Amino acid sequence: MRTILIGPPGAGKGTQAKIVCDQWHIPQISTGDMLRAHKAQGTTLGLEAAKFMSAGALVPDEVVIGMVEERLKQDDAKPGFLFDGFPRTVAQAEALDGLLGKLGQKLDAVVLIEVADDLLVERVCFRRTDKVTGRIYHLKYSAPPPGVELVQRDDDKEDTVRARLVAYHGQTAPLIPYYEQRGLLRRVDGVGEMAKVTERVLKALGN
Ligand code: AMP
Repeated sequence: MRTILIGPPGAGKGTQAKIVCDQWHIPQISTGDMLRAHKAQGTTLGLEAAKFMSAGALVPDEVVIGMVEERLKQDDAKPGFLFDGFPRTVAQAEALDGLLGKLGQKLDAVVLIEVADDLLVERVCFRRTDKVTGRIYHLKYSAPPPGVELVQRDDDKEDTVRARLVAYHGQTAPLIPYYEQRGLLRRVDGVGEMAKVTERVLKALGN
């Protein structure tokens, strides 16, 4: 399967992507995680990207596309993959079509996880990540077990979340008609228990 999860910040893309990829044994390709890894390692790319990320803005297309191109060449991505957080602009989607075309591959499905804006800010601001496993928790609705060391992402603060929502509606939402016109888009309601949303995602992917 070659698939994409799209949705606003806090829709649950990262959480659902991990579950699907564990089940299907395909790599989760999260451009957000890749950019955070660059930042943590202090690479030039990471330091440049950090300026955009901390403002809640998108990192320039050419940076992200170059990173994805390298990632897709790795052996583990040959049988399939699930993108989480990429593409985020129509230019990225067009570049992805070009990259896949060169590799003789094509997309199978694009799942849109839908959640209304007023729920998203609360979801994101209470989000915490297990520093060791990367598992995502919500302090109110999906509390971590005792003893887990939690970290909060720098860009999960309220002002930044609002800026990320503006970027989503302005730059990423145009992907909805883009993939709809290609017959690839499947909509999933992202509100409700995590396990229910997983069921809907798997069903949308035809599993
Ligand atoms: P995420 O972890 O997917 O929420 O991404 C965190 C941040 O990384 C975003 O707010 C952007 O600043 C940046 N980012 C991640 N993926 C992309 C992408 N495909 N295009 C541009 N910026 C991205």
